[in-house]
Amino acid sequence: MDSVRCFPKHEVLARLAVEDVICHIPSVEEGNYGRKLAVQTDQGTINVSIASKKLLTFRQSLSCAGCGAQGAYFLLLRNPLAKNRCSLELFTDEGELMTRDHILPKSLGGGNEMGNSQTMCLVCNSEKGSKIL
Ligand SMILES: [Zn+2]
Repeated sequence: MDSVRCFPKHEVLARLAVEDVICHIPSVEEGNYGRKLAVQTDQGTINVSIASKKLLTFRQSLSCAGCGAQGAYFLLLRNPLAKNRCSLELFTDEGELMTRDHILPKSLGGGNEMGNSQTMCLVCNSEKGSKIL
């Protein structure tokens, strides 16, 4: 499979439907930060972390807080430059990367807690920068 725009060095191991990932992400209340998802790939089963704060944010909302773009699918990516670490990344149908935004930017004292997190596409997040919407 091809690599993707934001991750030129990464290898795409699998493409997953949103609903096949979201249902496995624990809620904030569960807070099971060790949980992993077993993904079948051409290279065998990959156990990838499913409880990052980024994925918990996507569980709360799949749409960009700025423009409303919808997360449509996940790619399981492997980074050969970082000990082959694998991660799940969310994209829109147009191939735009979805990110976790800090509502109150960290540079302005915003915390890392989930209450300060929202889903945002990379375009809106880049435009927002260190501002508050
Ligand atoms: Zn957006």
